[in-house]
Formats: sequence, C-alpha cells, structure tokens
Amino acid sequence: MQAVTEGLTIAFDHANGDISFVSHAHSDHLNGLKNKKQKKLIASDETFELGNLYGERVSLKSVKTFPAGHILGARQILIEEDGLRTVYTGDICTHNTVITKGAEILSCDRLIIDATYGNPAYMFPPYEEVCSDIAKWFKMNLDLGNNVIIGAYELGKAQELIKILNTCAAIIPIVTEKIDHFSSIYQKYGVNLERIKVGTDEAEEVMNRPFAAIVPMRQAKRYFAARLSEAFGRKTLSSISTGWSINFRYDVDKAFPLSDHCDFPALKEYIEASGAKQLEFLQGDGKYLNPILNAI
Ligand SMILES: [Zn+2]
Repeated sequence: MQAVTEGLTIAFDHANGDISFVSHAHSDHLNGLKNKKQKKLIASDETFELGNLYGERVSLKSVKTFPAGHILGARQILIEEDGLRTVYTGDICTHNTVITKGAEILSCDRLIIDATYGNPAYMFPPYEEVCSDIAKWFKMNLDLGNNVIIGAYELGKAQELIKILNTCAAIIPIVTEKIDHFSSIYQKYGVNLERIKVGTDEAEEVMNRPFAAIVPMRQAKRYFAARLSEAFGRKTLSSISTGWSINFRYDVDKAFPLSDHCDFPALKEYIEASGAKQLEFLQGDGKYLNPILNAI
C-alpha cells in the first residue's frame, strides 16, 4: 500500500517506494526496512529505536503523523495534497491503555485502516475490567502458592502487562531478555516498568517463592507450565493475553482478551467519524466494515 505526494511514492510499512513510512516497530511492519541505511524513512524516534532502523529521516510539507495508540511510538500518517486527505492508520487502538493514549480519529477522503478485528464477533470488554481481571487472577494464584505465567508478544503487549501487574497488583514479573530489552527502551521514553530479567541472581532469588512471569506466546501452554511445576516443585498456571481469545481457545488455564488494537465497534466508529469515501484495509479483508461506508 502506498500514496503519492510531492511527486514521491510513500510506501506504507514496506520498502518499495521513494520514502517508507514505518507506522510502528512490530516485525510485520518492517518489511525490508530493518538495518537498511540507504532508505529514506518517516517514523517516530521510538520506532527507530525499537525497530533498529538506520535509514535517513525525512519530512515533507504534505505529511503529518499522529499517535496511533497500539504500542510505544506507533503513528498514523496523514497526507494532504490538492485538498485530498489520505490516512494510513497502521495498527491502531483508540482506547487509552496503561501506556498509550487512544489514537485520535483523523478526518480524510481515503482511509487505509487496520482491520485485524474487522469482524463483529470481536467486541472487547471494557479495558479497565480486563486489567482488573488479570490483577485479581495473578494475586489470587500467588497467594495460593502457585506460579503464574502469561504469554504475550514481546514488544508492546509484554510492556503493557508489566505496567498492569505493577500498578494494579503491585507485582514485579520475571521477563525474558528480549522483553527486558524492549522495556528498557520504553523506560528511556518515560514509561517506568518494574521487572526482573530471567537468569539474573535476583530472578533466581525471586523464583524460590511463587512468582509471576511473562513469556513469549509460544511458551504459554499447559505443557510448559507443567514442566515449570516439576522444576520448581510448585503448581504453575498458564495464561495468555490476546484479543483473539474472544473467539479461539488456547491451551492455557486462563485467557484474557487484552488487546492493543481497535475492536469491531471501534473500527466502525473510526470509519464513520473519518468521513472517508474510499476505504482500504490492512490485516484483513474488511468485508464486514465495507458496508458501513455504503450505509453512510
Ligand atoms: Zn502492531
């Protein structure tokens, strides 16, 4: 996906254009851009750092970026030329989270929007309720003498979980090296995250008692929890944090629908409020969202 402005092609989250706009640092948005020095880029400071980007930073008169929620540094882009406004949202979240402010809805003529949850089945419970459910379940199990692990994407969701556990449950979780690395960049941008890196003396000490840990999604499984139960001689429960858990079953003891994307009603609201006459979708075909445009 792309747009042309000032005679230049702006590539949205890929390398095939004169300039690439990198909406955020998730790997599926860094197509061909990582570690490349010659590329001209539009991206936030946070995205440069989280995504290990080395391109040349450029700015154009017709281009503005706005926060997109989702993860640290995520931006949506507005291109305005000859009175025509194009918006590409990247992955977007319009509700506030413990880390990011909800994205502003931008008015435009052409809208390219994240349709990850572009299906009416995806309506998330209120954010505060999900946070409090996570905090309660963790506290209850640690009090019962169990270990608890939760699966999360190591950039974005993991940092959100650290913050939820810190502020809603006064829990300092053990995290992987990769989660710790991304967390230190969050920290640099003013997000305080209390965590303990696995493999350190401090982690060894903490693991003598019931502990909470954030693990990569692939490890959030009952068999992995069973291995930990055996290794620590203490029951270990597994959980997962993803919006997909609204509709899919995971091999875990508990699933939390914590999402850093818009759910279906929020996408619908964005589309309607933007006033867009032309719609395109990323991360999904948007077949349930397209009729919204026709009905306006
Ligand atoms: Zn993303």
